[in-house]
Amino acid sequence: MRVVLATHNPHKVGEFQQIVQQTRPDLEVVGYDGPEPVEDGVTFAENALLKARAAAAHTGLAALADDSGICVDVLGGSPGVFSAYWAGQKKDATANLELLLDQLRDIADPHRSAHFTSTIALVLPDGREHVVEGIWPGRLAHDASGGGGFGYDPIFIPDGQPDGAERTVGDFTAEEKQSQSHRARAFAALVPLLAAL
Ligand code: IMP
Repeated sequence: MRVVLATHNPHKVGEFQQIVQQTRPDLEVVGYDGPEPVEDGVTFAENALLKARAAAAHTGLAALADDSGICVDVLGGSPGVFSAYWAGQKKDATANLELLLDQLRDIADPHRSAHFTSTIALVLPDGREHVVEGIWPGRLAHDASGGGGFGYDPIFIPDGQPDGAERTVGDFTAEEKQSQSHRARAFAALVPLLAAL
C-alpha cells in the first residue's frame, strides 16, 4: 500500500520512515512537496486533519499527517499546539526550549510532569478519515542535555527508563526514541486501521 506523508519537517519524515520500517515494512511511504495549509486549528486533531486532507486532495493518495507537541501540566497543557513557535513565529527550536526552561526555573521535580503528544490523521481518497493519538509521559529536565532528536528532546525525560535512569530524549539513540516515542505509539494505534484497508 502507498501512503503520502503530509509533512515537510525532515525530522518527522525520518522518524516516520524508521517507525514504518520497524513495524510495517510493506507500507510504501512517499514524501509530499505540495502546498501546505495554514495550521489554524486549535487542537492537534484539527491540524493533523487539515494537513492530511490537503495532501490527499493534492495527490489522490491515502495521506498521513502528524501534529505533535509537548504539553506541560503546570502550564495547563501548553505549549501544546503552539510548541513549534512557543518563543515566536520564527520557529527557533533552541529559543523555544530555553523559554520553557526559564518559565519553569523555580518549579521542583514533582511538579515538572509533561508529555509529548502525537496525533496522526489518515485521510483516504474516498473521504474516510481516522485520527489516532500517542502519548509519551515524562517530565521536564532543569537543563538541556544531548544532541539527538529535535525540538524539545534535550529537555524531556521519559518515565519508566531501565534501572531508573533519567536521561533526556536528546541522549537516546534514534532506535530507542523510535521504539517508544509518542509518534511510535500513535502509529501503533494506526496499524490495525491500515491492515483493515
Ligand atoms: P508541528 O510540526 O506543527 O506538529 O509542530 C511540532 C512541534 O512540536 C515541533 O516543532 C517541536 O517543537 C515539537 N515536537 C513534536 N514532536 C517532537 C519530538 O519528537 N521531539 C521534540 N519536539 C517535538
